Amino acid sequence: MISVLRLKRGHDRARVHPWIFKGDVADVSDRVEPGGVVTIIDAGRRFVGRGLFNPRPALCCRILTWVDEAIDSSFWQRRLASAVAARAGRGGAVRLVWSEADALAGLVVDRYGPVAVLQTVTLGMARRRDELAAALRAIVGEVAVFCADDLTAATLEGFEPAAGWLDAAGPTSVVIEEGPTRLLVRIGGGHKTGLYLDQADNRLRVGPLGAGRAVLDVFAYTAGFACHALLAGATSAVCIESSKDALAGAIDNLALNGVAARAEVRDVNAFDELRRLDRAGERFGLIVLDPPPFARGRSALEGALRGYKEINLRAIRLLEPGGVLATFSCSHHVSADAFEGMVRDASADAGARLRLLAPLTQSADHPVLLTVPETRYLKGLLLERMG
Ligand code: SAH
Repeated sequence: MISVLRLKRGHDRARVHPWIFKGDVADVSDRVEPGGVVTIIDAGRRFVGRGLFNPRPALCCRILTWVDEAIDSSFWQRRLASAVAARAGRGGAVRLVWSEADALAGLVVDRYGPVAVLQTVTLGMARRRDELAAALRAIVGEVAVFCADDLTAATLEGFEPAAGWLDAAGPTSVVIEEGPTRLLVRIGGGHKTGLYLDQADNRLRVGPLGAGRAVLDVFAYTAGFACHALLAGATSAVCIESSKDALAGAIDNLALNGVAARAEVRDVNAFDELRRLDRAGERFGLIVLDPPPFARGRSALEGALRGYKEINLRAIRLLEPGGVLATFSCSHHVSADAFEGMVRDASADAGARLRLLAPLTQSADHPVLLTVPETRYLKGLLLERMG
């Protein structure tokens, strides 16, 4: 029996956007299984698409296809194959599947050499872990699959979050190559699925700008930016990070790349340390500011912008003339315009003129879907302080 979800009249956003909220739904046929497939129809009973349903969260259905096709193992294989093909030629660690942006809403897959880290975000995807892993292996060959479900999502969706090897165990750590830089990834440890893959393209681009300069890597995590800059010939690098695990990873990566002698890792709060460096009159030729999301919700926006402005103001003051600042926000709720406005205000307060070298965004393996603005979240500016 097919399960059907009928949309309310006028709630047609589902034709272009995969998210259906409870408020969009007129009715759902009886006995639809939580996590099961539903066929979505509009108020006039016309076919809209097919997706996975969960009666528990407000976001109750995510559409997987707008074509009248079965969601079966062949479907998963086709979808995964096109996601993998879209990343062809990307070396090192790579995000193979990025949820909505790959028409696989609720699934994230990152590849670290012989390991695939699988993250399910919806009940429907969580129930299909084995099927998804089998389809993935049919495309990329034998990989060890590590499950790293998001706790918040699991609670919201009502499934048991998986954390560990799906079946056969793989290596507990992997060294990946990101251009000339080698980075150690602890499988199942660290933030995200191990690395901030969304910053890979920016690390490759910004790192070389550190050549011949003193570098300040603020919110360094495992010192990815600093390693790139030091390998490119930076004279020194100071890494600021407050998480113990990340600091240990930073020390490992600096040693792995043979640049530890020119680097210093500081276990400090970035806000305090920026203020202290400013008071001490220190100067740097390249500063990277890559903070965690300060605005987790819309209501936190004002406070977040104050926080961003504080660190940007300090960083601008720490820039030597001709120095370069790469500043980022990964808060979805902070728009590119608001972010740029904040940096403009900070530069005015610092009495500095900044030239925009380039806008920055998330790595190409985190594509943006135009109809799903939520897929665009990382924004950055590459700026040069005028003399
Ligand atoms: N630039 C990194 C990613 C940074 S993610 C990379 O390319 O890999 C943000 C980092 O900021 C996290 O590692 C987090 O532990 C750290 N962090 C969060 N709040 C902090 C604070 N107040 N002071 C210092 N570090 C902080």
